[in-house]
Amino acid sequence: MSTLRLRPHHILCLQTFRGSGYSPDFVAGMKKIVAELKENAETSLQIVNICDDICHLCSNRNGWSCTSLRPSIFDVLVSGRYNILPGKEYTWKTLLSMLPPLSLELLEECCPNCQWLSLCRQIVSEETPVST
Ligand code: SF4
Ligand code: SF4
Repeated sequence: MSTLRLRPHHILCLQTFRGSGYSPDFVAGMKKIVAELKENAETSLQIVNICDDICHLCSNRNGWSCTSLRPSIFDVLVSGRYNILPGKEYTWKTLLSMLPPLSLELLEECCPNCQWLSLCRQIVSEETPVST
């Protein structure tokens, strides 16, 4: 299996994906990658700071760049806080272990003002067990 390319903040997006996205093609691409990672957590991913295999089918992509400025900020936040370094390769299992579990705090910290934030907050709220 070939190594997938992944932007740092997409570690979160892959976990919150429930079928919504920018276009049917984008959603189909996301579904394929999510299924691949679910089936094999040892899948290798190379961290990049340009457009990745998820961006590939996104209408916001322009060559190797994203037309939105925010994703690059999210990448810097995830990369800097969790030491996930562009150019390095990690398995999906390792990447999951390098970040805390999904939580509202993690979303606020890593994806401020994302256009999908309210949806992701709802998903995390509904699926995260309330601690007692
Ligand atoms: S809020 Fe945005 S960047 Fe964060 S996980 Fe959701 S879609 Fe990804
Ligand atoms: S919005 Fe930008 S970073 Fe997000 S998937 Fe599309 S091209 Fe990639």
